[in-house]
Amino acid sequence: MKIIDVKTETFHYKAKSMRDAFGHGHPGPERDATETLLTIVTDEGVEGHCFGANAPVINSMVKEIIMGEDPLFREKMWRTLFERQRLAIGTLSDKVLSAVDVALWDLAGKAANMPVYKLLGATHTKVPAYASTMCGDDLEGGLNTPEAYAQFAIQCKERGYTAFKLHTWQPPYSADPKRDVAACAAVREAVGPDMVLMLDPYHYYSRAQALYIAKELEKLDFYWMEEPMPEQSMSSYVWLSDNTSLHIVGPETAEGKHFTRAEWMMHNASDMTRAGVRDVGGITPMVKIVHLAESFGIQMESHGPDLANLHVLCSMSIPGEYHERGLLHPFLDYDVPPPWLNTLVDPMDENGYVHIPDGPGLGMDINFDYIRDNLVS
Ligand code: MG
Repeated sequence: MKIIDVKTETFHYKAKSMRDAFGHGHPGPERDATETLLTIVTDEGVEGHCFGANAPVINSMVKEIIMGEDPLFREKMWRTLFERQRLAIGTLSDKVLSAVDVALWDLAGKAANMPVYKLLGATHTKVPAYASTMCGDDLEGGLNTPEAYAQFAIQCKERGYTAFKLHTWQPPYSADPKRDVAACAAVREAVGPDMVLMLDPYHYYSRAQALYIAKELEKLDFYWMEEPMPEQSMSSYVWLSDNTSLHIVGPETAEGKHFTRAEWMMHNASDMTRAGVRDVGGITPMVKIVHLAESFGIQMESHGPDLANLHVLCSMSIPGEYHERGLLHPFLDYDVPPPWLNTLVDPMDENGYVHIPDGPGLGMDINFDYIRDNLVS
């Protein structure tokens, strides 16, 4: 089997969320947006897909590297792209590596007529999800007060979630450790002792501010806190983890793929490691992190609602406990699929479990008519 084409199709859709000046998503007026589908085509008619591709970089750089390759030589192509990154910093990002790698796994699954999680070595067909909120805002009825978070947590509990993660206020809304703790306390009070709770606050607190929050969350029986300080300072995380019994999760956004996770594990910088396909450059490096985490007896919590993450989660023998479902907000309905998909990638039952699709490859149910009807000319 040979790769004979690498295509990108960019198409219009109507988005119901906006990004603030700092890049955080919030509900907003309907607006025009675009999405890109990457398709890797083979001479045997088998294709692999991934959404979220960067069309200019794929077409100008990646295409010539992988054209003519055997699509099952994923590790070889990933390594070539990784080495190519050194002289293409800023263009050939880990997100590009991820799109290519995920499309290749989708293709491999279709060639084998098997879902990706079974190719990886399956352990589960369903995993618990946590409700992951958008960041705080100033919207009346939104996520504008500690009480608003409490109300929304009750709503999520009634939907079936057994776990809830707050993203609290970030600039341009003022970040404040005391208000974060007030929101966490209001949520714990509202949902009772049994719901699993996590916090992902502002990422630029000082050690003292992060420790203050951690100590308060210990009392509120929170499960974990992630990224309260810049992850470039691993020493800050070693210090924080040493000073609190709260589980510290990370790194999430620190660059460096499995190499960075190995360093964090060696230095006991966090209690649980973290990776998402888009952060680390695909399923291929994510599986390396899973094996590394298993070897050290550390949980690996996956970042983001990607279907590829779900396949990795359903092939792990050490948890990886939760699928991150979101980002959620009282004004938005997450249970409606985007127009380019016929079904949700992470449907959740009333007991809070997300079920893995059992179709070949990633098992995405793509609405190709919608894509072709809305192509950017
Ligand atoms: Mg996070």
